[in-house]
Amino acid sequence: MSAAGRPAWTDVRAVLEARGFRPARRFGQNFLLDENMVRAIVRDAALGPEDRVLEVGPGCGFLTLHLARAARSVVAVEIDPRLLEVARELCADCANVRWVLADVLASKHALEPRVAAELPRVEPWKLVANLPYSVSAPLLAVLAGLAHPPATMTVLVQKEVAERIAARPGTPDWGPLSIRLQLDYTARLVRAVPAALFWPRPEVESTVVELVRQPAALAPEEKAELQALVTRLFQRRRQALGRVLSEDVGRAAALQAIERAGLQPGDRAEDLGLDALTQLSAAVHALRPPPTTG
Ligand code: SAM
Repeated sequence: MSAAGRPAWTDVRAVLEARGFRPARRFGQNFLLDENMVRAIVRDAALGPEDRVLEVGPGCGFLTLHLARAARSVVAVEIDPRLLEVARELCADCANVRWVLADVLASKHALEPRVAAELPRVEPWKLVANLPYSVSAPLLAVLAGLAHPPATMTVLVQKEVAERIAARPGTPDWGPLSIRLQLDYTARLVRAVPAALFWPRPEVESTVVELVRQPAALAPEEKAELQALVTRLFQRRRQALGRVLSEDVGRAAALQAIERAGLQPGDRAEDLGLDALTQLSAAVHALRPPPTTG
């Protein structure tokens, strides 16, 4: 294979067919065939020769090849053994790729331990991936919550997921996913990727979104409390705060917390930005009786 590009898609497809491969919808197996778009995503990730990269779902290895050339090392995690084999062959010249055959998530809340073991412990690292729909939102949340999280995440996801990630308060997309990620990252929609550039062609549109880690504003326990509050509030996002919180902590305490946070009982969760939600979470926490000792 030349350094300039990868084998023609017709050749790769012939290999896949010869091995009896059929793309599985449940694994989101839509390959990005357009080399210019693959290169654009690698540019979006702004990789340098010292960068360590995690790629989830290398598929046939089309993106992996460019990541391996741009970065110091790549950990590529693929659930489908047939694809892992095809990707390995495509990237045979790339000695800096570690291949892991695994479901990247052990549960909705935890990375597969074999994947966690491959991630850098000290050095900064980046996620760059064309993510399968089934894991995109939980995976990003899990990675954001790691003790040593990615410095940046540049991911191609379904357009609706990208819009939820980068949403602003007061819009229909603003919710637990936006809040979870924007607690730690700035989020930006980077580029639309038309469905025609994939095989098989997906029924949805896709968008590249970029997340850049920010210095921690909250301690881990404050973050956990805020997330628990957000989960409760957004289950009833259109209802007044006073009503929702009263059911949790009683009416008097709810009104007191809302006032302390500088909010109104008639405000709705979907209109509150990160600062307001953080203040509300702190005010609810302050009302709780201290744990008894002895
Ligand atoms: N990176 C390739 C590309 O851009 O053409 C393929 C991207 S495709 C959207 C998603 C890939 O993720 C598939 O190769 C699929 O087999 C893999 N995959 C799906 N679920 C996975 C999981 N839970 N863990 C690891 N890989 C997964």
